[in-house]
Amino acid sequence: MHKFNKKTIHAVSDLLGRSSQILITTHYNPDGDAIGSSLALYHYLILKGHQVNVLIPNDVPQFLQWMPGLKDTIIYYHHSKRADKLIADADVIFCLDYNAISRVNLFQQQLAQAKGEKILIDHHPEPENQFDYMFSVIPVSSTAELVYDFIKSLGDSRLINTAIGTNLYVGMMTDTGSFSYASNYSHTLEIVADLIKKGVDTEKVHRLVYDTYSENRMRLLGYCLSEKMVVLNEFCTAYISLTREDLEKFSFQPGDTEGVVNYALSIKNISFAALFTEKKDGIRISFRSKSDFSVNEFARKHYAGGGHKNAAGGDSYSPMDETLKTFNELLPEYKDKLVDAAIKSSTL
Ligand code: MN
Repeated sequence: MHKFNKKTIHAVSDLLGRSSQILITTHYNPDGDAIGSSLALYHYLILKGHQVNVLIPNDVPQFLQWMPGLKDTIIYYHHSKRADKLIADADVIFCLDYNAISRVNLFQQQLAQAKGEKILIDHHPEPENQFDYMFSVIPVSSTAELVYDFIKSLGDSRLINTAIGTNLYVGMMTDTGSFSYASNYSHTLEIVADLIKKGVDTEKVHRLVYDTYSENRMRLLGYCLSEKMVVLNEFCTAYISLTREDLEKFSFQPGDTEGVVNYALSIKNISFAALFTEKKDGIRISFRSKSDFSVNEFARKHYAGGGHKNAAGGDSYSPMDETLKTFNELLPEYKDKLVDAAIKSSTL
């Protein structure tokens, strides 16, 4: 297991002991790990007798809405007044699954000015220096994995029950594509074994998260792959673009394009995949890669974004055709790296 600094654990333990209001926050456009790690920590702190609230910036995708404890959370987008008060009043603020205050988007100013001590638990590279206590470990599956280690470090592993375990499992499963990447550490699977012992029904959790497509969502996926995917074998790259009209045709709901980019990456000899989705305020881009090609660096450099080495995101504020043209023009510069990554990932 990951060994956190003992002094930091002691200091945090003391801090929690004398705190009266704890707030858990996570990033904008929350995913399974954001919600799973937050709710797991929430259930744990409740069991410890604390007064705790979970604040999520905007809506939670439909396929995560069954998660234990979700109904107790506050969505900033819908309840900003109440949320502002919670941010101002909290004496401890957990910051889960993000590495910079700006990632909460809607309440970043309030969070930056909050008097509460900020505790970061996260696995994104290069965290900003904006937190009072940092549990930042990059080579792990998920923030959920770190929350498990955090609870264990506080000497409370016996408190991990089915509700905590189910939330942790969702975070670990969704951040690793069902343990297909970022999960090459035995510790990750040792945690899974322990969660099963604690009563987590892993098959059911998988079904609840992944086997919930609406007919429209499934047809949108088919449309993406048969009509909208561009494969550039020369650059080992495949990308899909979706305009507002495309999305409207399939009555798009938040979360409907989740995972689409991974299909493009599943093609043999493709080491780089991108999904461009036109939103009201710009174009959201998801990047995925295999092996050593860092989409974190690519997204940071060209799209004011970032994330992990093999999964990152960014934005473009140009029209779709221009955005795609610029993207195509960037590829030659990366050709050698992309080919290398494709070769590396297709040999043992
Ligand atoms: Mn994560």
